Amino acid sequence: MSATEIYLDANATTSVMPEARAAAIAAMAGDFGNPSSIHGAGLKARAMMDDVRAGARRVLGAPTGQLLFLSGATEGIQTAVLSALTALRSRQDRGEAMPELLLYGATEHKAVPEAIHHWRRLLNLDLDVLAIPVGRDGRHDLEWLRRQAPRAGLVCTMAANNETGVVSDLDGIQRALAGSPALWLVDSVQALGKLHLRLGERPIDYAPFSGHKLYAPKGVGMLYVRAGAPFTALIAGGGQEGAMRSGTENVPGIAALGAVLRLLEAGEQFQPAKVLERHRASLASALREAFEGVVFNADPEISLPTTLNFSVPGVSSRVLLDLFDAASIRVSGGSACGASKAAPSYVLGAMGLEPWRCASAVRLSLGPLTPPEMVDEACLRIRQCGASLRDSCMTPSLQQHALPVAPITRHVVDGAVCYVVADPASRRCLIIDPLPELTDPLVQWIRCRSYTLVAVLDTHSHGDHASSAAALWESLPPVLGSRGEADALGWPCGSDHIQLGAQRLTRLPVPGHTRDSTAYLLAGQYGLRAAFVGDMVMPGALGRSDFEVSEPEQFAGSLRLLEKTIGRDAFLLPGHDYEGRHACTLNTEIAHQPLLSALLDQGMEAAAFAQAKAEIERDLAPTEYQTMACGARVDRCSKAEMVELSAEELTSRSRAVRKVLLVDVREPYEQRLGQVPAAGAHVRRQAVPLSTLLNVLPDWLELDAGTDLVLFCRSGNRSAQAARALRRLGQPRAWSLAGGLALWPAEPPEGTPG
Ligand code: PLP
Repeated sequence: MSATEIYLDANATTSVMPEARAAAIAAMAGDFGNPSSIHGAGLKARAMMDDVRAGARRVLGAPTGQLLFLSGATEGIQTAVLSALTALRSRQDRGEAMPELLLYGATEHKAVPEAIHHWRRLLNLDLDVLAIPVGRDGRHDLEWLRRQAPRAGLVCTMAANNETGVVSDLDGIQRALAGSPALWLVDSVQALGKLHLRLGERPIDYAPFSGHKLYAPKGVGMLYVRAGAPFTALIAGGGQEGAMRSGTENVPGIAALGAVLRLLEAGEQFQPAKVLERHRASLASALREAFEGVVFNADPEISLPTTLNFSVPGVSSRVLLDLFDAASIRVSGGSACGASKAAPSYVLGAMGLEPWRCASAVRLSLGPLTPPEMVDEACLRIRQCGASLRDSCMTPSLQQHALPVAPITRHVVDGAVCYVVADPASRRCLIIDPLPELTDPLVQWIRCRSYTLVAVLDTHSHGDHASSAAALWESLPPVLGSRGEADALGWPCGSDHIQLGAQRLTRLPVPGHTRDSTAYLLAGQYGLRAAFVGDMVMPGALGRSDFEVSEPEQFAGSLRLLEKTIGRDAFLLPGHDYEGRHACTLNTEIAHQPLLSALLDQGMEAAAFAQAKAEIERDLAPTEYQTMACGARVDRCSKAEMVELSAEELTSRSRAVRKVLLVDVREPYEQRLGQVPAAGAHVRRQAVPLSTLLNVLPDWLELDAGTDLVLFCRSGNRSAQAARALRRLGQPRAWSLAGGLALWPAEPPEGTPG
């Protein structure tokens, strides 16, 4: 189903090269001896290990000192930090003069500061831990380091950064540390096979390495310890590795690492820096062609030729990752996702790059074995990714062939929802509840498609953000719409409705959440379809009414008016949707919210309703986005609901009598790049981006009982969200393809026609 995978994430891990695989297999088959055994099999394993160690010493330029095999760099870092801090602890116990600081580079891999804090706490060391600042180029502030070095007990500086590829100025650091009592740890993970470290020529005390970053398997690594540097074993036991790291050695892993080091030394297969620089230049020029305004986040002159970190203005790393993944190019976001809010890259943040660059960063990393043909194919696909973004109007360029537009599209920022209502025939649109973060993308959306903006409406004066209606009008070229006379919420003066093709929008004042709360009712040729209700009713919550601008006493009357006007089955489209439920109806909310049921079913008095609601709203905590909760939460999303279906289950359903509607909920810029699972003959297909799900709700809730609705996306997250939303709205046969396209078998499950 998919194009062959292009793997450009070598800084995360690499495949295991054939020679390394063969060496590991040999060490697991014929040569499986335990290196501690004194019989022939054991001696053979030991000789192999000695051989690998000797080779590693040559490659790393470390003729003296210890070179231990262990499980990987994280263990190497722990061992080094434990060793250094135990030595400091002994000095503290002996009452000797103590340093005051433990220093680590602000862009270190998390393993380093985490290990420092961990062991400092356990060893009860009273030393300050400080991050060494880096400049905009990502290199350590050597002047700062020189000033602090005399007071430091440990200094940790990586050889090359995993996110940006920036190579540290080790000579400069060495000079800054001259005369310092500090022990020096250099995380050398990203340098192996790419930089000549000459460990023995520098006063480096500890240098950890990891096999899986250079074509050896996961679970094997090395730690260099300078002769005379303090050492404390992390693992005690049978005395292996000279009692410096007990536990039977990972012999197959060491054998594999040995094969890699042998080839590295021979210098044949691994492409030299000059060739890798050419690959990087080709990729950079494909990125420049594909993405207008792309910026690179590290200077190529001082970075590894295997790493490219870039940002595209106006496009988040989330979108770029989805896009690359749809093109079967595996890359990494510069940012790690925190609990809820995407946390921008701390590495780029430490470099002082602008927030947009941190939030849009993507890392593309080659290995020294990446073949030139793969680079060429990657360049081709990167250009296709660019075209796809342009056709989706997500870049500043004008586009005549923009992809079709749905009548209602929603955009969500940290749980707040903004809607675009559009009429493709007349190319007119309006926007409901604009958000400041969306001003540029919305202007781009309108410009790129040459639509006319007829109104920008707010459902109320918002408590958690200012309306960006004015900014939106100001940013729009006048030919694409100009703000006429309108009231404070943007409703055109003197109009009782706004017509957009067959869609007609009217308004209904519903004071409660705020004094000016207004619902916008959308009627089409098939009658009333939906109401944009702002924060009056949200899926799982009623809007809070404890603000200064609220009218708690009028809330009950407004709910009754809404019920009378649109009934209990019309879709209510909320101003906030913290849990991705998309829409609700009065019926769904009566079932979930006892207070609403008391009001609408049991005739509760308005005053009693207001009082009960105030109770719920007391001490309302912020939302998981750490923004103000606009709804008085009464029911938590039950994420545990099983909505997932495996590829095998899908196939067996499609072979049975049941019909399947298989829906791609990825966004159009992803869908265009192909990659759709093969499926059986009973399978009908549809493409409905999650942002336009609202448009198909009426049809999907009415699907015949013999049809299963199976949604899929890249990883299964978005489709699971949509399936849960559909279940909540009353479609029990909504499913999500478990693991999405990522886990879809490369070979269709047996019995899957075409
Ligand atoms: N240090 C750096 C610079 C890294 O890139 C990594 C891996 O991402 C590590 C340490 C941790 O390595 P390992 O996976 O071997 O524990």
